[in-house]
Amino acid sequence: MTPPQPPPVVELVGVRKEYPGGVAALAGVDLTIWPGELLAIAGPSGSGKSTLLHIVGSLDRPSTGTVRIAGHEVADLSDRELSALRARDLGFVFQSFHLAAGVSALDNVADGLLYSGRPLRARRREAAAVLERVGLADRMTHRPHELSGGQKQRVAIARAIIGEPALLLADEPTGALDTAAGDTVMALLRDLNAEGATIAVITHDHDIAAALPRRVRLRDGLIVSDSRAPVEAGAV
Ligand code: ADP
Repeated sequence: MTPPQPPPVVELVGVRKEYPGGVAALAGVDLTIWPGELLAIAGPSGSGKSTLLHIVGSLDRPSTGTVRIAGHEVADLSDRELSALRARDLGFVFQSFHLAAGVSALDNVADGLLYSGRPLRARRREAAAVLERVGLADRMTHRPHELSGGQKQRVAIARAIIGEPALLLADEPTGALDTAAGDTVMALLRDLNAEGATIAVITHDHDIAAALPRRVRLRDGLIVSDSRAPVEAGAV
């Protein structure tokens, strides 16, 4: 007998999102993300990437269709339960880092465990270990303005993964970085995936999407391709 398959991390069935004025930002999306996947959600501006990110990130609800995140049916949850789901099961990384200004790297990362209710000392201990994991052991006391863009993004990634979320959602994570820093951040995401993290990268950048093992492409609110073909030669 084959072992039972773990449940999907994300399951969208027939998801539509309409905004006032009749714009269907998502026009009927089916998407399943399995544990351990590393995928790109790609597409041109206006194709529905942000809307999909908001729905997968449980920041917004669909107009119609079913959304399951980490085994929970979003329609069954109150807004308060949805916030708890977000804090516990999802990690977010943004193009512009969203670190707290004037706060050390260590405490920015420790904040990723706020919902856990653990005491500050335990959260800091954990944060130090994760900062070491992302290669910033020597930057723990630095505040965001004392860090390079690439270092800031690694702090943001550390904050997002410290609670071991079921899914890490990275929204244009290299969009504000130069090529070398962007490559470092993508290499880190690949390493974390190799260690078991499930990661979705939202990007309009063809090269970034092409280098990931699964590519979901959106156009006009629909998935127009979903490919697990081998990574293109030369794309890393
Ligand atoms: P992307 O992130 O790929 O650029 P979006 O998800 O932001 O795409 O947008 C998809 C479509 O939905 C676009 O046509 C956009 O103009 C529209 N849209 C997005 N947000 C809103 C909103 N709050 N109100 C009305 N239309 C919106």
